[in-house]
Order: sequence, then structure tokens, then C-alpha cells
Amino acid sequence: LKGEMMDAPLMISGILKHADNCHGDREIVSRLPEDLSTHRYGYSDAHKRTRQLANALTKKLKIKESDRVSTIAWNTHRHFELYYGISGIGAVVHTVNPRLDPEQIVWILNHAQSKAVCFDKTFAPLIDGIAKHCKTVKHWVLMADSSHLKDVQTKCIAYEDLIDDQKADYDWPVFDEYAAAGLCYTSGTTGDPKGVLYSHRSTILHAMASSAADVIGVGSKGNILPVVPMFHVNAWGIPYACPMNGAKLIMPGPRLDGPGLHEMITEEQVNYVAGVPTVWLGLLQYLRESGNRIDSVQKVLIGGSALPEALLRAFEDEYGVIMQQGWGMTEMSPLGTVNTPLAKHEGLSRDEEVKIKLKQGRLVFGVEMRIVDDEGNELPWDGKSSGHVHVRGPWIASGYFRGAGAESFTDDGWMKTGDVAYMDRDGYMTITDRSKDVIKTGGEWVSSIDLENAAMGHPDVAMAAAIGMRHPKWDERPLLIVQLKPGAEQDKESILEYLRGVVPKLWVPDDVQFIDEMPIGATGKILKTKLREMFKDYQFP
Ligand code: ADP
Repeated sequence: LKGEMMDAPLMISGILKHADNCHGDREIVSRLPEDLSTHRYGYSDAHKRTRQLANALTKKLKIKESDRVSTIAWNTHRHFELYYGISGIGAVVHTVNPRLDPEQIVWILNHAQSKAVCFDKTFAPLIDGIAKHCKTVKHWVLMADSSHLKDVQTKCIAYEDLIDDQKADYDWPVFDEYAAAGLCYTSGTTGDPKGVLYSHRSTILHAMASSAADVIGVGSKGNILPVVPMFHVNAWGIPYACPMNGAKLIMPGPRLDGPGLHEMITEEQVNYVAGVPTVWLGLLQYLRESGNRIDSVQKVLIGGSALPEALLRAFEDEYGVIMQQGWGMTEMSPLGTVNTPLAKHEGLSRDEEVKIKLKQGRLVFGVEMRIVDDEGNELPWDGKSSGHVHVRGPWIASGYFRGAGAESFTDDGWMKTGDVAYMDRDGYMTITDRSKDVIKTGGEWVSSIDLENAAMGHPDVAMAAAIGMRHPKWDERPLLIVQLKPGAEQDKESILEYLRGVVPKLWVPDDVQFIDEMPIGATGKILKTKLREMFKDYQFP
């Protein structure tokens, strides 16, 4: 017996129509890259301009269904309009990470066969350097008004001119919900970048799941600031979840430094913020130095790499903010797990609570997971059996754009995440490593994540990274690489002594090396590939 419910395709344009009807005056506030001024308007205005954009894309730029239109841009209201306008007409919004090398950006634009590129003025020099190498791009659009065109050498159209003379009557087409809507390339730290192609259906299901109370918990009272960029994994889906629920969306533009974030948080009374740990380390340093506070903030979603204990305690204990860890990846839209305490955790001691909070979190409904050993046998969820993490679900990639990377998918329909973790009986995941970062010493695994986390508890350590170095007796031994806090003195022995008290004996690194600045990759994470290169000739004393 078939249910008798309508077949209503899930369309991204439907989110904006809903926001216009039900949350029309709820604001999007942006810091504009071209002059750092503040722009604010409501979801109804955003919908109007997005329909003008839809007319401009189809009539002026002749963008057709499935064409890729790329963005190289900060989080702003214009980027928001492009998300909805491009996918709304049936084309694909392709977000490009401007922190990648120019050669990689050219490679990605060519691989995506991009028809048009919309970019912020900040990236004018980048565009001027690469435009001639991008064979398929027919239009370059500067995301500003025409007064800024003089600052770009490449022939381009100003975004405001593009949409200005267009009518706001546009009927969003309804088509197959499985159609491609967005494209984002992984940063390609190993091999060429690989494209992940999101659909209308996957984007909406992910936004609905992320809205739930125990996930991000997006509601109409939310004043939400995604520090995570719209150029990397859709700013964790927040630009979709906010209009879906009538939350105010605060877009920081290029101001991601401590003072810039503090200013926006205070001015807009932000109560929820999302970002990677490196951003929080910067903000923490600024808050401590300036004596400023962020009292409006209730919760922070932190992910992309592990949440260090010292950072968790600093924000929760000194600033009264709830730190919530999440885990996911480009291929997962990105949310897979989010850490929210269970009813039974009430009344735990602070130390027990922190121990749970340092796990990567519980599975979001919609994502299935299995943990397997090297031979592919499934391991129990017993809080200790560590293995490779496989996932599947409606917002998880089933392959890569134009057929790369088949080895990341199993024959029985799972995606290999490349992470190593164990699960406990409550469905909390604890990541011990990325497969390629695992340190194996005398047959045993050292969790580089736990070791780094422990090292960052030392009062002089700003950032720490552990890598496995060849060792004649033990195969591999951990080397700890440390960036000290400003003004701190180099003192290996004090760091090693500290670690002896907090990690198993076998994990204590054989040596500590100091560097002035950790190499940080395009997605805000420490680049271990770079560290391995820097220390390739290193020998233990
Ligand atoms: P890239 O692979 O380009 O760096 P992603 O954002 O897709 O970008 O990275 C996903 C990876 O980041 C995950 O597979 C995992 O290794 C790591 N990661 C994400 N969140 C966490 C977390 N909370 N703790 C530890 N690692 C994390």
C-alpha cells in the first residue's frame, strides 16, 4: 500500500520563498569587503534581489541548467544571493577557497568548467593573475558597485550593475530534487582536489537536520555568525538553516581577526557562532589582552579539527560560553556528529563533563556509521575498539565530480572518511587520528590528536602538532612540534615533564622542536604534510 502524500521536490529556492513569507524582516547583516561598511536588509529584500539576479544570470549571462557558476568570496549578503540565485535557476554554485594556491584555483576552475566567476574586490589581484588561464570562464563579476571596477584589470561586470536593471518577478522553477545545486572541492593535501557535488535534496535535508535542538538548534531567536567561510563546505550549511528558521544571519566579510569578530558579536548581539579552532585561539588571545567580553554568545560550534581542552575550558570557564564540538567533512555536507550532553549526564563532575565534551559528538540522525578494522571487519561500539570510519546517508557523497577518487568508496555503498575513531555505547564518536597521520610505535597507536591536545594544556604552548618519525627500534616515534605563545621561552624539558604527567609513557615524544609559525592550510588546519616536509631530514638525538 502506497502512502498518499504529495510528491513535492525539495528545492533550495523554497527556503528563500519561505523566509520571505514568514521572516521577511529578519536581517542579514554583512561587513562588506570593498569598504568594510555594514550592510543590512531583511530576507524579503534578499529574495527580491535574488530574483533580479536569477533574471540577470539567465538573460544577461545566458547561464543554463547545470552550468557551473563560481564564487571566490567572503561571507556577505551578495554571496548569500548567489547561493540561492545560481542554484535556484537550476545551475550549480561552485564555491572556491581563495586561500588555495593560484595554480590550484586555476586547476579547479578548469576542472569544474566554470562559465562565470563572481569575486570580492579583495581577490582582484588573484583574478588578474589567473583570468587568462581559465579557458571556460566567459564572465567575471566583481561583487561590488561599478565605482570599484577601476581596481580590477580583468574585464568584468559589477554585480550591482548586473542585477540593477532586472525585474524582480521570477518564478523559481521546480525540477528534480536530485539535481546538482552546489560544488565544493576538497583542499587536496594529497593529490589533486576532488569535487563534491551537492544536490537540492541533500542540501535541504542537511539544513533540516542541522536545525534540530541537539544539533545546531537554529530558531527564530538565533543571531548566528558563521565564521566558517561560505567558500568551504557551505559555511557548514548555516546560510540554508538560518532563513529556513528565521534566524538572523551575521556575515563577517573579511574581518575574521579578534577585534573584527568581537565588534560584530557585540554590535549584533550574536548568540551562536561557528568556526574552526584556529579562529577561536585568535579570538581568545584578543579577549584576554583587551579585557573585552562576548557576553551575548551562548554557544559556539567548533569543528574542522579537534577541540583542544585548554580552549574548551578557557571559553567555558572564563567567558561563560558553551563549547559544542562537531565533526564532518566536505564530502558530508559537512555535519556528521555534534556533541550535546544527554539527560543522563546531568550532575556529572566538571572533569567528567569535559571528558565527554572532548569527544567529536553523537551521530546526527540521517548519518549512519560503521567502524572497521584493516581487513574491513566491523568493530563493536564499546568505547575502545578503534578503526576506520565509514559513513552513508542522504547528504553524503556517493562519488566525486567527473569521476575521481573511486578508492574512497566501498563496493557495499559506504564512504571511507579517512578518519580513525572509536564509538561508545551512547553513539559518541572519538577520533584518534586521520589515517594518514597515525603514529604507530612498537605496534601500538599513539593518538596524535590526544597528544597535541595534551601539549596545548601547557601554559607556554600556543599550538602543537605531533608527527611520526622513523625510529630504528620502534618503527616510529612521535616528534612534537610546538609554536610557543608570544614571549614564552623555549624549554623542551618543561613540556616533556608536563606531558609525562598527562599522557601514557609510550606517547611521550622523543623530542620537541620549536617553530615560529605553524603552517596553516586553506581550511584553517595545521598542515602536517608541510611539517613532514620541513622535518624530513630530522633525526632524533
Ligand atoms: P579538508 O579535508 O579539505 O581539510 P574538510 O573540512 O573536509 O577539509 O576536513 C574534514 C576532516 O577534518 C575530517 O575528515 C577530520 O579528519 C577533520 N575533522 C573535522 N572535524 C573534526 C573534529 N571535531 N575533530 C577532529 N578532526 C576533525
